[in-house]
Amino acid sequence: MSQEQHAFQAEVVRLLDIVAHSLYSNKEVFLRELISNASDACDKLRYAAITQPDLIDGDADLGITLSIDKAARTLTVADNGIGMNHDELVENLGTIAHSGTAAFLGQLGEESRDQANLIGQFGVGFYSAFMVANQLTVLSRKAGETEAWHWQSDGKGSFTVTRIEDAADVPAGGAPEHGTKVVVTLSKDYDEFLEELRLRQIVKTYSDHIAVPILLRRAGGTGESQETGDEDSAGEEDTRLNEASALWSRPKGDITEDQYREFYHHVGHTFDDPWLTIHNRQEGVIEYTNLLFIPSTQPLDLFDPSRRHRVKLYVRRVFVSDENEELLPPWLRFLRGIVDSEDLPLNISREMLQHNPVLGKIRSGLVKRVLAELKQQADADAANYEKFWQTFGAVLKEGLYEDGAYRDDLLSLARFRATSAEGLVSLTDYVAAMRPGQSDIYYLTGDDPQAMAKSPQLEALRKHGVSVLLLSDPIDEFWIPVVGEFDGKTLRSVTRGDVDLDAITPADETDNNADEADAPDISSLTALFKLALEDAVKDVRASRRLTDSAVCLVADEGDLDMHIERLMRQHRPDGEAAGTAKRILELNPRHPLITQLAGAIAEQGGLGQDAVADIANLLLDQARILEGEAVPDPIAFAQRLTGALAKGLTQVP
Ligand code: ADP
Ligand code: MG
Repeated sequence: MSQEQHAFQAEVVRLLDIVAHSLYSNKEVFLRELISNASDACDKLRYAAITQPDLIDGDADLGITLSIDKAARTLTVADNGIGMNHDELVENLGTIAHSGTAAFLGQLGEESRDQANLIGQFGVGFYSAFMVANQLTVLSRKAGETEAWHWQSDGKGSFTVTRIEDAADVPAGGAPEHGTKVVVTLSKDYDEFLEELRLRQIVKTYSDHIAVPILLRRAGGTGESQETGDEDSAGEEDTRLNEASALWSRPKGDITEDQYREFYHHVGHTFDDPWLTIHNRQEGVIEYTNLLFIPSTQPLDLFDPSRRHRVKLYVRRVFVSDENEELLPPWLRFLRGIVDSEDLPLNISREMLQHNPVLGKIRSGLVKRVLAELKQQADADAANYEKFWQTFGAVLKEGLYEDGAYRDDLLSLARFRATSAEGLVSLTDYVAAMRPGQSDIYYLTGDDPQAMAKSPQLEALRKHGVSVLLLSDPIDEFWIPVVGEFDGKTLRSVTRGDVDLDAITPADETDNNADEADAPDISSLTALFKLALEDAVKDVRASRRLTDSAVCLVADEGDLDMHIERLMRQHRPDGEAAGTAKRILELNPRHPLITQLAGAIAEQGGLGQDAVADIANLLLDQARILEGEAVPDPIAFAQRLTGALAKGLTQVP
């Protein structure tokens, strides 16, 4: 078979363009990326060999070898891991594997192409080698297959794939028995990566945590240092550059913060700093080690519909799976890291892991551990905990809805914006600050906390000094009905049903009592409005929740809240047709407009039926706009408004 030419996927071309033009100064991270891939490949082969031992026959020492050829200006990163066949080479090294990466590229504007530390923030995996290379050659043979393949590219839009026997320029040594060799032909400014000392330093900095050995291989006779070197028969000499033991199995005290961070980057494919590192060994009936990280920024796939977690499962240091749904609940999917079990059988199939009781116990142990650590953080440093909550609170709240077992823990960890406070409050804080006589926890749901804080429905509550939780995550609409109450206090929507504040001592006593006494009877007005508005509303009534605004809409006690209906309509194109519950229009009996209207209709011949209908409709539309809803008949609205303004002008003296 002759040489095949393939075009890179458009997103890869984009990425390569960013890589080529990047002013990123830590270009050495390309080596971290290649070593990380090589290490993953060794992990995968070790796991596959449990059920198919012949895959590694006689070559059980899995590891990574770096070698330098100064004359050819190449640095080679070789592994004897799983390897790639023809299709995998085309797929893995021709497209972007991670949906998150593609999404990130989509968000980038053209102008951000030169952003210096883009690569540092983000990491571009294999393709980062094009920061320093003018050509990459990959030789790979998949374990268990006979054919080996030659992949090559200059990083400019296309690559070739050739069966190894047919390839013209196969680098010395050829393809591995199984595994992959990445040959980096360095561009002219990057001689530094041909220097042993530099490579040692890079490996120490970024890759010391890698569990398989990383060896520096020299042709016999050229080496200066012997150290841990051992000669082999061909006169080659290998020096090990890393510790080569699983980081999580080392004592905590021996692990530096930098090592934890680099391990986090490797295992999580992340590039930020961990917000929290949770490294424990669980002893007893079930034994395992967890090294888990909470990122400091949202991973790009956080709200992916699959809701999959990314924590890797190991059994006695052997990587088993990174797609084990049972290991952690979806509402902890922001965690990165590993769990290493001592008890699970090694040769367990991924299917058998599905309903494994040991795994179930590990899962509940992990959940409890993570929740306890979060609690500790929340108690120790509220401001720092707020950062976590802003980043991942919306995900954690899914647990309130899905996982009754952890509801109380989650409720105590939850933080909310509230009308009474600058920062976030806990439910315990809220309850402690309730007004005398207040028996419910009030909340308002919506999309935009800024706009929500100005909602008319909050007016009387504010005047009474009653705080209202402002909930703006879509998930809030789902857990609230399931949870229902906290500490015996009902969670009550301020936009549904009646709000009865009579029992609550107002914050501003004198002022409010005067209002109570003055509240005029507007029952004739509400009756006339109801007639005029017919089917457009469920009811018209005097409001007990307004103090400043003239009108507002609320949902009836048994109906769905208005915000959740809007959410449902957004997500179902036929949602509107499926019917929206009718609303209740509330009028503020103390508002000058309403009192004047009530007065006008009481007079003989004060206001005609048409005029009442116009005003009723205008006020209803206004209430809809305040709710962020569309006015159903904008033309009629505009005509009524123009009419009202014109009438106003003619009455100006
Ligand atoms: P990532 O490691 O985040 O998946 P990379 O760009 O680093 O992304 O690598 C893309 C894919 O190429 C990997 O997921 C893997 O499937 C494959 N790959 C890269 N290097 C190797 C290797 N040395 N051995 C086997 N597969 C590899
Ligand atoms: Mg990678």
